[in-house]
Amino acid sequence: MKHKVIIEPFKIKSVEPIFMSTETQRKAFLEKANFNTFLLKSDQVIIDFLTDSGTSAMSAEQWAGVMRGDESYAGSKSWERMENAVKHLTGMEYVLPTHQGRAAERIIYGYLGGKGKTFISNTHFDTTRANIEFSGAEAIDIAIDESNDSALIHPFKGNINTTRLESLINEKGAKNIGAVILTVTNNSGGGQPVSMQNTKEVSAICKKYGVMLLLDCCRVAENAYFIKHREAGYENKTYEEIAQEMFSLTDGAAMSSKKDALVNMGGFLALRDKEIAEACTNLLIITEGFTTYGGLSGRDMEALAIGLKEVFEPAYLEYRIKSTAYLGEHLHKMGVPVMLPIGGHAVYVDAKKLYSHIPVDQYPGQALACELYLKGGIRTVEIGSVMFGKYDENGKLIPAPMELVRLAIPRRVYTQSHIEYVIETFEEVLKTKNEAKGYKITKEPQFLRHFTSHFKPL
Ligand SMILES: *Cc1c(COP(=O)(O)O)cnc(C)c1O
Repeated sequence: MKHKVIIEPFKIKSVEPIFMSTETQRKAFLEKANFNTFLLKSDQVIIDFLTDSGTSAMSAEQWAGVMRGDESYAGSKSWERMENAVKHLTGMEYVLPTHQGRAAERIIYGYLGGKGKTFISNTHFDTTRANIEFSGAEAIDIAIDESNDSALIHPFKGNINTTRLESLINEKGAKNIGAVILTVTNNSGGGQPVSMQNTKEVSAICKKYGVMLLLDCCRVAENAYFIKHREAGYENKTYEEIAQEMFSLTDGAAMSSKKDALVNMGGFLALRDKEIAEACTNLLIITEGFTTYGGLSGRDMEALAIGLKEVFEPAYLEYRIKSTAYLGEHLHKMGVPVMLPIGGHAVYVDAKKLYSHIPVDQYPGQALACELYLKGGIRTVEIGSVMFGKYDENGKLIPAPMELVRLAIPRRVYTQSHIEYVIETFEEVLKTKNEAKGYKITKEPQFLRHFTSHFKPL
């Protein structure tokens, strides 16, 4: 028989207890954390949906790999296995191991960036944007218009607007474009996938103007799932083949392996061009480590090589995408405004719609993140004007296009009953939604302010 229930395709071998806090305790914890969910301690959290980054449960095979890790400074066997795994997937000649995604970004965007350069992406992830802007360059997001309507159903809302891409290249001058970056799936844009068709079109435009195309491939396996199930012509390809085809259309890739390589730490930069790879390797050695480990230990590289294979297993990917959709569709049916269709790694709640009485300069997303924590001990993150807001010359907030709250789901960590608990918490949030209050920022740093800002309820 064909079962309707998608069960977790794994058994649990090792468990980590959860401290079951009360609402009164959480109130005190949140105040102490200055109403910033990043500043909570993990044992103050019941369900941790802050991020899917580095929070995966590793498999028995990966843990076995950890024991096999070769910690030699140079020419480690584990590096050889990682390099082979990355080359096999990306088809790229030069692989640079880094301790996480942003280290790969700092190296490549530090090299390609600088004053006067422009980078164009469907949506730059926060660390990507920060690394580009830190180099003096500008970062422009041009996802298709459909991506700004959270309720609109479109199979590939992560796509780049190719008309705008071409006109931007013309406007800025091809030689001033640092690179075009396709983020798959589009994390900040709601975890929405990019189609192969769009990738082909973007690749053709980049070739036509001699502009470099990079893949921010953190969730390339999840993206491949959507292509196989939504794009004609890919039904009979394996997930890995789909990912390989996507890489074949690009000049390089940066990965935070803390996502789809199912490890707790790691990343890489993969490149085709020898000259760029050599320049980046110099930066790697100065700031990360020698070429055969970068910022990683042998055991990390071993686990990464295994994870990059496991993530493409059909039973895993089906469970992964369908369990995320299970949460999202339940919330949708209850009347919680969620970004549709549900993305791969997370459910995004539209806080501007849910808390329509809270103005954007009082951060409705932050308000929802705090409510979810207070009511259920659920830790989430605001992806809206706290994360992406800017100020004009008069210090007035230029809000982000959307005020989202992300429920990012760690890979292979929570079971269906955890998810039922989250759904129940939302029932309570809905009941009390008119009482929710906005927040003001009382302290903020210059870059990536969402990590450390302090807030006060209004
Ligand atoms: C996580 C992430 C990064 C940065 O990677 P880190 O490992 O957190 O440094 C870059 N791009 C995207 C799309 C991401 O999701």
